[in-house]
Order: sequence, then C-alpha cells, then structure tokens
Amino acid sequence: MVEVRQLVAVDQAIFAKVDIARGTRIAAETPLIMLPPTTTFEEELSGICKTVDSLTNEELKELDQLPCSSKVADEIRERGFVTNQVWSFYKSKKLKNSDGTLLKGKKLRKIVNKTVNLCITYVLNNVQLGPSGKYGSGLFSLYSRIGHSCVPNAFNCWNPILQRLTIHAIHDIKAGQQIFVNYTGITCRTRNQRGVSLYAVWRIVCNCAACTDDAIDQLRYRMLLLDQALAAYQLGVLHDPHLTGVPKLATAQQALGAAEELVKLLKRQRLCGMEIRRA
Ligand SMILES: [Zn+2]
Repeated sequence: MVEVRQLVAVDQAIFAKVDIARGTRIAAETPLIMLPPTTTFEEELSGICKTVDSLTNEELKELDQLPCSSKVADEIRERGFVTNQVWSFYKSKKLKNSDGTLLKGKKLRKIVNKTVNLCITYVLNNVQLGPSGKYGSGLFSLYSRIGHSCVPNAFNCWNPILQRLTIHAIHDIKAGQQIFVNYTGITCRTRNQRGVSLYAVWRIVCNCAACTDDAIDQLRYRMLLLDQALAAYQLGVLHDPHLTGVPKLATAQQALGAAEELVKLLKRQRLCGMEIRRA
C-alpha cells in the first residue's frame, strides 16, 4: 500500500502507492528493537546496550539505514552523556579477545562507537508503546520514515495483543500522497506549544497548515481552552490559572456543550484521530 521515497540527500518519506480509504490499516509493524518501560534515560541506554549483542548483522544493517540527522547526532555526541554511559557499560562487561585477553584500545572503541550510533538512532526514532509508554518503547523501520504533520492523515497505535505498531488512515489518501502522523500525539495545542516539543525532541520546524496559518492557530487555541476545561471538569479540579479564557464548566450540560464544540472544531480541521473519540 505504501512505498519509501528518497526526498533529498538523507531524508526518506512514505507515500501511498494506491488510493487508501479512510479507516484502512496501512501497516502492522513488528519492532526492530523493543525495550521494557524504563524510568530513566540511563536505564534506557543500558537496555539498548544489552540488546546490541542479540542483533543479527542484517538487523544491524537495517538499523543503520534508519533516519538520523547528522546535526542532531553530533549534538548528542557532543553532550557526552550517551558516550559515557556506553563506555561504562562495556567497561563493566569486560569483553575478551578470542585469545582470552581483555579487549581494549581501537577494537573496543569501534564497538563502543557502533553502540553509541545505535543509541542515538534509538533516541531519535523510538515510539512510546501504549499510553505514557505503558508497554515500553520500540524502534520501527517503516514508522521511522513517516513524516510529521500537525494535520496528519494517519494515526499510529501499539497493539499489545498483536505486538505490532498499527498505522491507520484517518482520511481517504490518494495514490502518490505522502503519509503523515502527529509525532506529539497531542492535537489541542497552539503552534508555539507544539513547536517547542517538536524542536526539543526531533529538531523539527513544522511547516504544516496549522503551523503557518494564523486563523488555524486561533482555532487550536480555542481547542486548547476547551480541552483544558473538559480535563478540569472530568477531574473535578480548577483549570490551569495561567490560561485565560478557559470556559467554566459547572454542569454536565455545559461540559457536553464544550465537548460538542471541540468535536466540531476537530472535524472542521479534519483531525479525526483519537482526540475526537475522547471528546
Ligand atoms: Zn505543524
């Protein structure tokens, strides 16, 4: 149903090969690597280091081809944290040469560098599996090549029974169109709020319609207010005092009215992912 296309020198993207009807499951992918839920970055890195040994050459080759911006990779390397963690993992592991002597010097550095690269690829491409990473995180070949848009035409979700990441069309997609998902997983946010997380995590400066059109941004602000008001109503607490204009929802009737308005705004922007269902 889909194919990988080379966009510019390093970027790849996924395009529809045929017309895909809304609701179609485009793909159901097994992870190349999967890690159990972790609470710290150290734990995550140590999990990746432990996985490296079990990977076949073919799997390593496939991981090597995943998108990885050299600029971001260099930034991560410069910070030194990942490299230090990987070094201490291998120092405590005490790898041996075939003659039984301790592996060190150039040979060890080569292994460390390979694992550092893998850690960086993981950091940049991994997907949280389930709500708040309940089932851990994973790295996927096809999904890693799908681009981001704040007005996506597809939606991804971890299926713990199938043990696969499924990708579904949320609109009719024509043959030749690019597939986009929303990396942030959150729709009811303003351009600035989305921009901060997109840049911090993926170094993305998004140019989608919602990020370039002021009128759409106004709609997103209204959606944010409704979303906050509904969350406060649901939890029985007061909304974030820093936000102005959040509607006060005192009765179920008012809450229903706010939810209906939110659904209307989501539909108007063709945002037919999970948020519409929740609302
Ligand atoms: Zn955007």
